[in-house]
Amino acid sequence: MVRPILQVGDPQLHRPAEPVTDFEDAALQALIEDLIETCLAANGVGLAAPQVGVSRQILILASRPSLRYPSAPLMPPTAVLNPRILAQSADLVWDWEGCLSVPNQRGLVPRRRWVTVSYWDQIGRPQVSHWQDFLARVFQHEYDHLLGQVFLARHPERLLDEASYQREVLGQPLSPTAVPTGNGTPAIPD
Ligand SMILES: [Zn+2]
Repeated sequence: MVRPILQVGDPQLHRPAEPVTDFEDAALQALIEDLIETCLAANGVGLAAPQVGVSRQILILASRPSLRYPSAPLMPPTAVLNPRILAQSADLVWDWEGCLSVPNQRGLVPRRRWVTVSYWDQIGRPQVSHWQDFLARVFQHEYDHLLGQVFLARHPERLLDEASYQREVLGQPLSPTAVPTGNGTPAIPD
């Protein structure tokens, strides 16, 4: 089931999420499936539970190539529960981000180049993953949502509206094929 995505200013987006404690809960599995479905339906590459109004430490990574990120890695949608950053690069990289909860805005945001993360997977197995570059950025963006933050809190070096981003950064006018149906503009990372 596709769920509505909350927009910036909604108090539920701005409070830290609670850890998942009951991995056997049928409602948890339904929530994860809904998050994946909602993320894909909105042309996102990631989504976090607080974005649909659920205060749980659950994020979805769903990177795949798109018109905007032709080199984005293709991965099966992956649920990441109760993530903890074990290690991260010292260096920062700047790239453009958008957010399904921040309509019509793109920001040039600094992120760690790589992160190593422990978490629980969809069926409650402990995992450790190392993500770098684009996936590390998507993870850090979604992880911020679990902390109650959107990318605007990361002090973007520049902010552009969607049309300016298309024109100035991508060097092309907004293409009809790049505009999804539903609420908001297409957004990277989520
Ligand atoms: Zn977001």
